[in-house]
This record gives sequence, C-alpha cells and structure tokens, in this order.
Amino acid sequence: MPESTASAARILAIHAHPDDVEFQCAGTLALLAGAGCPIVVATMTPGDCGSVERDAEAIAAVRRAEARAAAALIGADYTCLEFRDLAIFEDDESRRRVVEALRRARPDIVLTAPPVDYLCDHEATSRLVRDACFAATLPNYKTRQWEPAPPLAKIPHLYYMDAIEGIDRDGRPQPAGFLVDVSKVFDLKRRMLACHASQRDWLLKQHGIDEYLEAQARWGAHRGAEIGVAQAEAFRQYLGHPYPTDNRLLASIGQDGKGQHLQAPSLTSGPSPVPPLR
Ligand SMILES: [Zn+2]
Repeated sequence: MPESTASAARILAIHAHPDDVEFQCAGTLALLAGAGCPIVVATMTPGDCGSVERDAEAIAAVRRAEARAAAALIGADYTCLEFRDLAIFEDDESRRRVVEALRRARPDIVLTAPPVDYLCDHEATSRLVRDACFAATLPNYKTRQWEPAPPLAKIPHLYYMDAIEGIDRDGRPQPAGFLVDVSKVFDLKRRMLACHASQRDWLLKQHGIDEYLEAQARWGAHRGAEIGVAQAEAFRQYLGHPYPTDNRLLASIGQDGKGQHLQAPSLTSGPSPVPPLR
C-alpha cells in the first residue's frame, strides 16, 4: 500500500462480481493508488456461478484468490461480502451487510455499479451501495455484527462506473458524466484483468481468441475516442441530496474529466513495477 498523505482520499471500489472492477475502473484505481490513496476493492459475490466445470465453492475459492491478486497489483486490499451470484436483493439484511462493509473500509470516495446495466446483480449492487452510503452515517442504523465498526463521519463521494458496453436495457447509449484518461496505466489495468485466469480461459475456449482482454481494450479505446485519448474510463457522480457534489475523484488524480491533465499525477509513490503480461 502506498504511503497515504493527510489529503489522500480513501477509496472503496465495490461491484457485484470479481472482474467487474477490473473492466470498468481499474485504470482509475491505478491512478488513485499512484496518488497515494489507500484502496479497498470489494465484490458482493465470489463469482460462484462463473464456471461450467467446477462446483460453486471450488470456483468461488479460485475467484477470490484471483481478485485478491489483481487488487495487490496496485497495493489494494480485497474483500468479498459473500452474497451469491444472482442472489443479490435490495432488502433490509443486505443493506445492513453493505453498510458494515462501508464502515470497515471508511471511504471518502466510493465507486460502484451503475443503476442501469445488463445484469440484475449489478443493478441491485448499485442501489444497495447508494443507500448504504447514507445509512452508514446513522448511529442508530445497526448492522448486527459481533464487533460492528463505528458509523461514518460523513457521506462519501459516490460515483457510478460504466455499464457493460455503455448501454441501457433498451440498447440506448448511456452518456458519461466525465471520463478519466487511463492511457498511461492501461498496461497495469490489463494485467489486473489477466489475474482472472479462470474467466479468461473460459472465454478463450469459447471464442478461440483472447476475447476477455480484447473486450477490455476495445471498450477503453471507445471511451478514449470521446476525449481524444487512447484509453479512458467513464463515470457519473451521484448528485442527489445530501451527497457531496464537488468532484473529489478528479481532484485526486489531477484531471478535468475531458482528457486534460491539470497536474501530473505523482506516480512515484505508487505500486512497484510488475513484469509485463505474457
Ligand atoms: Zn458482474
């Protein structure tokens, strides 16, 4: 973990499944890590339906390890909330579980799934995290844990990642609120996704090409073209009352959200170099 400074924001990136974060925001996380921000990557499930060969607990163990290895490449911690695939629902018990995860991570900035996406788990995660950011500040909202973490002092800045292929369920494009230029860290983002070997190999068998890594590069280039850079990631900030509305994410990495760099991100304190992907 890079040494954090007093002003470095604490980051929680929480999505439904192992590899969602690597597809949608790993480049931005790498930039934040380079800026000295402590980062926790969380998944709601361990991806227990992500195999046609292994049983649920066997593939879950593999995928937790893959997610942990990917997070480690940027010095981030990894945790799983242990929901199960296709069984994430917006209910009382689930929201309390997400609140406890927020109180343990104590983020200033939360990145999560978009409210409209192709998969029910993504949409349920989005709503649970959105509401948990507020609930986590309320002392009387108990999480029923043995040793509950204290309430958050303030509501974190909340951002939605891109939907898969950037479209809603009617196929309409969902415009980005702003875009982060991740060209300089794209190789690292690619290596993070490559940690998910169980999924990469599955697609490799199905398609006969490395569709897993190709899809990541293709989508990043598509978003990048919108602001004239090689690779970008799209976000929308949640601006509902009473969540913070200044853009602390962009301020943390010195970008304007349209491809301009306001200051050079300090990568000297970031993760040590990792051998290139083979
Ligand atoms: Zn997913």
